[in-house]
Amino acid sequence: MSAATGFSPESYAALIDSLRARGYEGRDFFTVRPEARHLVLRHDIDVSLDAALAMAEFEVKLGLRATYFVLLRCELYNPFAEAGRKVLRHLGALGHEVGLHFDAALVDGGMEALDQAAAEECAMLEGLIDRPVRIISFHRPAQALLGLARPLAGRAHAYEPRFFKAIGYCSDSRGAFHHGDPSSHPAVMAGTALQLLTHPIWWMAEAGIDATDRLERYVTGRSAAMRRALATMIESYDPQRGAGE
Ligand SMILES: [Zn+2]
Repeated sequence: MSAATGFSPESYAALIDSLRARGYEGRDFFTVRPEARHLVLRHDIDVSLDAALAMAEFEVKLGLRATYFVLLRCELYNPFAEAGRKVLRHLGALGHEVGLHFDAALVDGGMEALDQAAAEECAMLEGLIDRPVRIISFHRPAQALLGLARPLAGRAHAYEPRFFKAIGYCSDSRGAFHHGDPSSHPAVMAGTALQLLTHPIWWMAEAGIDATDRLERYVTGRSAAMRRALATMIESYDPQRGAGE
């Protein structure tokens, strides 16, 4: 089966059900206990704020709250645009935590420079969402940052040993659970805590669509939104002709 083909809102709900059936209950990064059947739901928003919003609303229906990590320096979405800011505020209003998704590869220098850049981004994100940013996750972290045993910008981060080594960790990177299904993760077999990282873009479409087609669907939606924005801004622009219709 190609990447993400089996992923859908229904299969996400089924995964949560299977963990709940094993006694797991949701916790956030600040209340998780390693020895307990606690499930920390983490979402890194790499591609689409709209997919994140859809996932956030779906999770509320399932009685779940998660932590959504937002990139500020991102080529694919703009959290500062009005539509983006609305999504971020709505995530908070739904009861989810909003954290910073931080791309350390964009920062030159050592730990001090990382701290400073992360602090600046946290301050900007706090301005956008009008609430404190308490936690950070690294976007595509270098090996040296995995298990980094210190806070960043005075805040917790999701790859600290207490969230990454002391508890189980499982991710759907590139649209697949490369290290096995979360419900058979060694931590789950042992009845201890698990951090489950999923990316909304892989889950908020019906089953049967592979990863590339999910991304193409996103590109099509973004193109249409860009054409609408251009038509609003530039009178002479013809969005129909632009779309090749
Ligand atoms: Zn990421």
